[in-house]
Amino acid sequence: MKLIRFGSPDHEKPGVLLDDGRSIDVSGFGSDYDERFFGGDGLERLAAWVIVNAAMAPTVNASVRLGPCIARPSKIVCVGLNYTDHAKESGMPIPAEPILFFKSTSSIVGPNDDVVIPRDSKKTDWEVELAIIIGKKAQYVSEADAMVHVAGYALHNDYSEREWQLERGGQWVKGKSCDTFAPLGPFLATADEIPDPHSLPLWLKVNGVTRQNSNTAQMIFGVPKLVSYISQFMTLLPGDVISTGTPPGVGLGLKPEPVFLKPGDVVELGIAGLGESRQVARAFTGVAC
Ligand code: ZN
Repeated sequence: MKLIRFGSPDHEKPGVLLDDGRSIDVSGFGSDYDERFFGGDGLERLAAWVIVNAAMAPTVNASVRLGPCIARPSKIVCVGLNYTDHAKESGMPIPAEPILFFKSTSSIVGPNDDVVIPRDSKKTDWEVELAIIIGKKAQYVSEADAMVHVAGYALHNDYSEREWQLERGGQWVKGKSCDTFAPLGPFLATADEIPDPHSLPLWLKVNGVTRQNSNTAQMIFGVPKLVSYISQFMTLLPGDVISTGTPPGVGLGLKPEPVFLKPGDVVELGIAGLGESRQVARAFTGVAC
């Protein structure tokens, strides 16, 4: 099953992308894709509801904006330097155990929303990543049991402000958490649709030029390890997101000079089985509130 959310920002409705390509409004099911949904066997109940109601459910027009594929989770846990070549291009050692950092949940946006280059940013950068969505609460989970806790997967672009991440001291969170820095989707594919999350081609282009082109097979730490590892330090709640790290080809690592986003740049990315997304970069023009 593929879950979508659609409509205007902060007013999204839940939907399902059917195998025949039609998207349906599942508001009649009565639940957004949030912690209570995932933690209350929502996927199983929704699948049963769809079988009965899909034919009568309203169709979602293809022109309607897609929102993030899940409601705002309790946390986004990110994994740093989880591809060997990306660690090398970043000038960092290969990690002996997963590097973890947080990304604010207020950074989540729809998959095709604009990415806003933050005020005074000089080094806004891209990172295509496989995101894990937690389905069942996970605390001190073993690797052998970890996959039971996974609801599914989604495409994520872990946008990063490199100066704020790396040159301003403190933790990476400062460069990871700006508004629009976490486009999530187009859809959540349930785990049964992705039998092997460790063999997925993933790519990213900027202005039509391929910058990242790899495979999740290159990840240092795989999905069971990450779920188990993180659950030793914190309780993962239903709906939480783990972003599994990015392959080489980020702007920071380009030779002879790093390349960062400027207004008007078009970023396109995808993962096999998880769809594609597209963001246009624009300058911050809003008023702080
Ligand atoms: Zn990342």
